[in-house]
Amino acid sequence: MTQNEWRKRELEDLADFIATENGNDSLPVNVAAIAEENGITYCLGDYQNYFDGMLEYEDSHFHIYINNRGRYNLNTPRIRFSFAHELGHYFIDEHRLALESGKSLHHPSKYCMIQRNPIEKDADYFASCLLMPRSLFVDDCKGEFSFRKLDDLCKRYGTSIPATASRYMDYGSMPIAIVSVNSGIIQYKLFSNDFPYKSLKTDYTNKVPLLTCAGDFFENDVVCDDTEEVDANEWFLTNYDLRGVKIHEHCVYQKQYGQTLSILWFD
Ligand SMILES: [Zn+2]
Repeated sequence: MTQNEWRKRELEDLADFIATENGNDSLPVNVAAIAEENGITYCLGDYQNYFDGMLEYEDSHFHIYINNRGRYNLNTPRIRFSFAHELGHYFIDEHRLALESGKSLHHPSKYCMIQRNPIEKDADYFASCLLMPRSLFVDDCKGEFSFRKLDDLCKRYGTSIPATASRYMDYGSMPIAIVSVNSGIIQYKLFSNDFPYKSLKTDYTNKVPLLTCAGDFFENDVVCDDTEEVDANEWFLTNYDLRGVKIHEHCVYQKQYGQTLSILWFD
């Protein structure tokens, strides 16, 4: 195992222990109860675009601020993830000790799928493992992949599609990929380790390939309600001959943000 894999395993074990303490296997994981059991207070408020969450240490006491932008609650997947992320800063020894000794964690936290800051990355991974504990999630990942299955996992664990898909990549029985597109430009892509093709057919502009569900939305305003079959060689650049090979694409549209998320998988 690489050092990075060790670290992930360590965070995963810690999160699993906390989420399922005393044989608790009820889902979705109750983040507020975990805070309360550990003497951490919290509040939700509208902090506009300043931060998603913040863990504060003052007078020997920890408090979590969650930005609900005035409209979300503790059942909203994004809010749950922010809460779990802040709990990560409390439960990860190095983070808590730093706060207790008066150091900053480069806070407040902002959520993004591709984290570069190692402290934020650890807290994100912890959050994902707390909300989707390995000891429960692995069994739920068994069987064939479908969008329906992913959607069921999201509901069962109270997690967003990107967070659930990326956790599924660790334990799912089928390799999948996700591609996020904003205004026609690819924002990020994530692949299961064993996903066969990892180069998307795009150039320096990062424009999403046109003859895909996501491309069709940005180019022609076409919305596909269901999972579609797309030519694999529209999505991927590879030396393999993909003529006639189809890939499943399920595109999730977030029209208000001008954004799509494509989930891709082979049979
Ligand atoms: Zn953070």
